[in-house]
Amino acid sequence: MSPLPAARAEIVVDLDAIRHNVRQLRELTGVQMMTVVKADGYGHGMHEVARAAREAGAEWIGVATIDEALALRAGGDTGRVLCWLTVPGEDYAAAIDADIDITAYSLAELDEIEAAVAVAARPARVQLKVDTGLSRGGAPMATWPEVVAAARTGQQDGTWQVSGIWSHFAASDEPDHPANDAQEAVFSEALAIAEQAGLRPEVRHLANSAGAILRPSARFDLVRVGLASYGLDPAPGHTPDLGLRPAMTVRATLAQTKPLAAGASVSYGHTWTAETDTTVGLVPVGYGDGVPRHASNVAQVLVDGKRRAIRGRVCMDQFVVDLDGDLPAAGHDVVLFGPGHDGEPTAQDWADASGTISYEIVTRIGGRMTRRYV
Ligand code: PLP
Repeated sequence: MSPLPAARAEIVVDLDAIRHNVRQLRELTGVQMMTVVKADGYGHGMHEVARAAREAGAEWIGVATIDEALALRAGGDTGRVLCWLTVPGEDYAAAIDADIDITAYSLAELDEIEAAVAVAARPARVQLKVDTGLSRGGAPMATWPEVVAAARTGQQDGTWQVSGIWSHFAASDEPDHPANDAQEAVFSEALAIAEQAGLRPEVRHLANSAGAILRPSARFDLVRVGLASYGLDPAPGHTPDLGLRPAMTVRATLAQTKPLAAGASVSYGHTWTAETDTTVGLVPVGYGDGVPRHASNVAQVLVDGKRRAIRGRVCMDQFVVDLDGDLPAAGHDVVLFGPGHDGEPTAQDWADASGTISYEIVTRIGGRMTRRYV
């Protein structure tokens, strides 16, 4: 039997690593775990990650949009799911029918949810979000008392259950940033206002990965953990070693290898010129597959056990690496990034080289690549 043809490029996701990470983080924090799987599980596959997280004990799954939450239900997830980014006219009734916890932060949203309850088959479950200083979504503290009052009224008349109150950090990856203490203080004030109004929700939550790991005081009843679940470091330079395992490896198959003479320039714009005779390899992925163009001339890959530099610009479908005189055959394996155990770069290395964060590297990679689960 002939071997399977090598994939041009693929994302290999280690679901056992995800289960391990979720377990470690649950143990560390000692509170309920919400694994965040928005944006297709940060590029790892929303359904597969959600299943692995549930297996590891995640009580909650977090997503941005109602569409993502409904897709989880369609995929068979029956546990608690919270979504937090809606626009006017959203299909709240579908979310209510699917028993999804919906985030709300204004009277207008509560009005829309109330209208949706009238056509849905059950009361809604609503979580109120307060803006404690990120100045992104959330009720400003100035309107918080009236949002709380309206939510309390809706709860009393059976329109919904207020299942949570929450907020989101601006700078939890910088543990000494003054915004962290300030936001935690505002959050406590918002909780006190709700409590005085008679709202005692099931879960209060503030922390994402970095907050959950670095600020025990911010754990409240639940932590919303995205990046760390995937084994990536949410606060490089600050995070203690928790033994988390990066779940994603991106590999490709060398399409061509050849000698390159000194003086020859490589790829569009000729931004790199060989100073000495060398050999180069063609890696058949590019920005059309989510490889950052900012990695041009700076990031590295692993071929044949050695780090190889990207030479010239990353194109839509391909880029060139310097093989430093080696000439492996076309068909040879290239690892763009992975856990780093075998010398390959990590997603964090690619982020550093490309001037971005590991979140963006793993979330954007994909495009035409296949995903394989191990
Ligand atoms: N909570 C909210 C509201 C988010 O938007 C995100 C992701 O950006 C998270 C939690 C998870 O953040 P992290 O990946 O840093 O854990």
